[in-house]
Amino acid sequence: MTDEQLLRYSRHILLDALGIEGQERILATHALIIGAGGLGSPAALYLASAGIGKITLVDDDSVDFTNLQRQILHTQARVGMAKAESGRQALAAINPEIEIVPLQARLSGAALDDLVASADLVLDCTDNFATRHAINRACVHHRKPLVSGAAIRFDGQISVYDLRRDDAPCYHCLFPEGEDVEEVRCAVMGVFSPLTGIIGTMQAAEALKLAAGIGESLSGRLLLLDALDMEWRTVRFKKDGGCAVCGPTAAGQLPGYLPRPDADHESATGACRLA
Ligand SMILES: [Zn+2]
Repeated sequence: MTDEQLLRYSRHILLDALGIEGQERILATHALIIGAGGLGSPAALYLASAGIGKITLVDDDSVDFTNLQRQILHTQARVGMAKAESGRQALAAINPEIEIVPLQARLSGAALDDLVASADLVLDCTDNFATRHAINRACVHHRKPLVSGAAIRFDGQISVYDLRRDDAPCYHCLFPEGEDVEEVRCAVMGVFSPLTGIIGTMQAAEALKLAAGIGESLSGRLLLLDALDMEWRTVRFKKDGGCAVCGPTAAGQLPGYLPRPDADHESATGACRLA
């Protein structure tokens, strides 16, 4: 670490649990952040300020005036700009020494697979149910830890799927695809501004812990926040032995890629859901 890095990260280094070793592991980590909106904004800002070595920031959308109420990566002057590039500018302004790769794309198929394979950990900051499952399948396949958050109205949730571990449940274990669920259109739903900040910031905290190799992650625990009453609830869950995504597979098939006719199906309505 350079003298400037020792200074920049000194308040991290002072933490007994983290120290120089933990900070060095953070500096060596490549985080893939999918979604540069309400959740991705605070997550990316904290990962950049904390010195995650490389951030790939993916979003296919452009900054809209209605985003500014909660998507704090972006500014009014950057309305109309690609969110990935707007995010890159915000992150570079805070920490010019990290590598930031902006990607204006809607990830699916091989592109998603390649990016997940190249990253050390993945933050799902999307608002789309089908995309969430596609990300989960890639993370199961490549055994990458997945930090997943969701926020809508006053309701937030967060969990970690530490797919490096054999006994860790995946997103599909908890939210099986195809079940009757409440699907709502995020584009027209209200979202309490700081709710996305709370959940996205917690995603950054879990990602940094995973990067540094410290503490106890949210693997096997789903935290649910009712921000209107400011009540937290914890739901504990286990790996589903019969899970179609991470469960035992027939010979020759790798977990995460069981034949699924709708494997790369993208929701046409941009539907999202919260458990
Ligand atoms: Zn599973």
